Amino acid sequence: MLYLRGHHLICLHFFSGEGYDAPFIENLRDVLKRAENEEIEIAFAADNICDKCPYLKNDKCIYDEKADEEIREMDDTALKLLNLSAGQRVKWQAVKERIPGIFHEWHNKYCDDCDWKQACEKSDLYREMKMR
Ligand code: SF4
Repeated sequence: MLYLRGHHLICLHFFSGEGYDAPFIENLRDVLKRAENEEIEIAFAADNICDKCPYLKNDKCIYDEKADEEIREMDDTALKLLNLSAGQRVKWQAVKERIPGIFHEWHNKYCDDCDWKQACEKSDLYREMKMR
């Protein structure tokens, strides 16, 4: 079983090979592979991506001072948009099918201020969504 938090259910679709460090990137690739085949349980907070992140300390995101609170808010927004809830089990394909319908709202709310925007812009899917 794979555990993914709300905002990763959206952002992971736009992974373009970049990340904080080599173990984090390798784990992202592995999570993506597993997502294609395994059931996903929606995590309430830190998930299987956070597990290998240098910014996870004591189960909290310490990317910056307010990160944990802001990321949890992002998770809530992502789940509302996707019409899902923490604790629920989903298939990656089913999540993927919902992305076109929610992309613009997500993009308008978060992408311009995100430090990873340039990495996502290298993703074909991200560019395709933006042009729709
Ligand atoms: S920055 Fe925070 S939310 Fe993102 S992977 Fe790292 S611990 Fe998780």
